[in-house]
Amino acid sequence: MKAAVYYGIQDIRVEDVPTPICGKDEVKVKVNYCAICGTDVRIYLSGHKKVIPPTIIGHEITGVIDEVGSEVQYPEKLEKGDKVALVTSIGCGHCKMCGKGFYNLCPDTKAIGYFYPGGYAEYVIVPAQAVKQQTIIKLPEDISLKEGALIEALSCAINAQNYLNISSGDIVVIYGGGPIGFMHAVIAQADGAEKVIMVDPSYERIEHFGKNFDNIIFLDPKKTNIKDYVMQLTKGYGADVVITACPAKQAQIEGIEMLGSKGRISLFGGLPKDNSFITIDANLIHYKELSVFGAFASNKKDYIKAAKLIAEKKIDASKFISCTVPLEKISEGIEMVRKGEALKCIVEISRE
Ligand SMILES: [Zn+2]
Ligand SMILES: [Zn+2]
Repeated sequence: MKAAVYYGIQDIRVEDVPTPICGKDEVKVKVNYCAICGTDVRIYLSGHKKVIPPTIIGHEITGVIDEVGSEVQYPEKLEKGDKVALVTSIGCGHCKMCGKGFYNLCPDTKAIGYFYPGGYAEYVIVPAQAVKQQTIIKLPEDISLKEGALIEALSCAINAQNYLNISSGDIVVIYGGGPIGFMHAVIAQADGAEKVIMVDPSYERIEHFGKNFDNIIFLDPKKTNIKDYVMQLTKGYGADVVITACPAKQAQIEGIEMLGSKGRISLFGGLPKDNSFITIDANLIHYKELSVFGAFASNKKDYIKAAKLIAEKKIDASKFISCTVPLEKISEGIEMVRKGEALKCIVEISRE
C-alpha cells in the first residue's frame, strides 16, 4: 500500500510498504481522510517520545471498514464498507483510569498515529486492545468522511467544555486562534454563549479565517488590553469562561485574572515542558470561587457528540477545512499548517 512514512525530523517519504494484515481480533480500515493535527506538526518538527521512526503517523482518521477479524466481538455489527472514525487513545486496560473508561488519562496510553501506525496510509489496523475498548465509531450516513476527519479535534474541545458548563448568557474568552480555538468558539455558541471573544497575536490570521464564522469578537493583544476590554464589556463583573487554546503562560495568568465570580477556566493548551510554571494570585480562586480545569485528548463519548454535532449541522465542518492535499503532498500540508496558512488541512488518501 501507499503510505507516508515518518523517518524522523522533517523527513516524511511517501512510499510503498506492505499492506498490514488483519489479525483475528483486529479490524482493518481503508483510510479515506486523515486531518493534520497540531501534534503532527510538532512530531514533524521535533519528534515525540512515543513515535519511534520509521512509522506512520496521523490520528484524525475516517474511512471504511475493509476487514473484520474472525474473533472480533463488538457491541454493534461491524461490516465491510461501514463508515467509521477511530478513537485515538488506547489505554493499558488494567489501571484505575482505564477501569473508569478514561483511556485518555491512562499513564501507559498507547495511541494510534503515535505508538501504533496511523492514518497517513491506505490502510490502518485497529489493534486488538483498541477493539476491546470499542474505539471504532460508526458514522451516520449523512456525515461525509471528509467532514468526519474533524471529529477527533472537535472531540478534544468537547472533552474540555464538558467541565465548563457553558450556557446562555455566558461571556467566553478564547486565547488562541488555531483550528481548535475556532472549534471551541462554535461549540460554546452551540451551548448558548452570549459573547465569544477570540484573542490571538497573529491577528491578521484570525481575522482572515474568522470571515467564515459569525458573531465572534476578534482581539489583538498587541493593541488591546484584553482584561480591561472584558471588564468594560461585563461592567466589571469579568468573564464567565476562559479557554487557553495556546501554549502561552500569559494567557493562563491573564485568563484567571479576568474571570468573574464562579468563573471557569480550561487550561486546554499545554505549556512547553521545560517552562511550565506560572504565578497567580490564589486568593482570586478562593474569594471568587473560580474553577480551574485541565483537558487532555478525549474519549469515545466525546467523539460521538462531535459526530452528532456535525451530522445535525449544529457545526458546519466545512468552515474549518481550508485545504485538502493528496497523500503525496503531505509535507506541504504540514508546512501550511505550521505557517498558519491553513486552518485545518485534510490529507485525502482516497476520495469518498
Ligand atoms: Zn489531533
Ligand atoms: Zn490504563
